Amino acid sequence: MKIIGITMWQLDLPLKKPYWLSGGRLKFEKLDSTFVRVDTDANVAGWGEGCPWGSTYLPAHGPGIRAGIATLAPSLLGQDPRSLEAINRTMDMALPDHLYVKSAIDMACWDILGKVTGMPLWRLLGGTNADLVAVNSSISTGTSDEMISLIRDAYSEGYRTHSAKIGGSDPTADIARIQAIEAALKPDEKVTYDVNRAWSPAVALQVLNNVSPRGWIEQPCETLQQCAQVARRVKQPIMLDECLHTFGDHLQAWRLDACEGVKVKPNRVGGLTKARQVRDFGVSVGWQMHIEDVGGSALADTAAVHLASSTPVANRLACWLCHHHLAADPVPGQGARNVNGFAAPPTAPGLGVEPDVAALGAPVSVFE
Ligand code: MG
Repeated sequence: MKIIGITMWQLDLPLKKPYWLSGGRLKFEKLDSTFVRVDTDANVAGWGEGCPWGSTYLPAHGPGIRAGIATLAPSLLGQDPRSLEAINRTMDMALPDHLYVKSAIDMACWDILGKVTGMPLWRLLGGTNADLVAVNSSISTGTSDEMISLIRDAYSEGYRTHSAKIGGSDPTADIARIQAIEAALKPDEKVTYDVNRAWSPAVALQVLNNVSPRGWIEQPCETLQQCAQVARRVKQPIMLDECLHTFGDHLQAWRLDACEGVKVKPNRVGGLTKARQVRDFGVSVGWQMHIEDVGGSALADTAAVHLASSTPVANRLACWLCHHHLAADPVPGQGARNVNGFAAPPTAPGLGVEPDVAALGAPVSVFE
């Protein structure tokens, strides 16, 4: 089987309402998504999506994905999409690093492998059943009252785990915010406080040694080294996210004893193939993991839910579904969706999401 064509679409995905994180430093109103279809000489096609969370959250942006895929395409044409490790080596030779560029292509090749073997991705990734995964809300930075109001809305939609975005340079403000939110939680709720790199190590220590949240603290500072420095001096479990890209980054986090868990995001680490390597390492060392994508429609969300569903329950925390925040739905009703706080991966072969080409509009590039 050979790849004979790669077609690319660009979609603007507006958010339902503006979203702030990292202590209010970063604001988001729409996402720039790239949909990719990989065609083969066996008349089987696979779909992928690459969608950074804006251009300020990570060193990744929508136009970069499309430029990168244009660079990769000549090397991919003629390759067997079922050989995922070889496909990834080809991409890494043709364009070293630039991990986020490669995720959509890798996802489409997994979709093809699933379709030709008749298996859904959760099975190819190691699962035995289409296990439901708990989903968590994502609460934009705001005042305590604003954030508690969003948490109460999310609770009514079935969410029992929330990712609340905090952080800033004033320790007193974050201590008050954490205490107010904790006091408002119901017994069956918990919050991960996601700082998105906004604290200096000193502020992190001042805040965390003066509060007693029941949940996790995520990405307190900018760098892995700073986060490790904090992790050694606080009692809360630490989750890392933005400072981890390569497999080596994850290995270094473990060596530094910098965390008890990580966010596994296919677009950030370079695709499902590399995310699976990280997931398997995380299982080996006893990490707990949120497995979700950086952003995107229900297509990207569903790929991540397949990986989450195939992960042992003991190592799996809740997943966030980006499409919940979007005012557009390019794959209407398809894929993993929140039903009373849980999402199910599709059972159809492959990814189980099949965009309507007519609804996507004209492609921006076709490589063949
Ligand atoms: Mg995070």
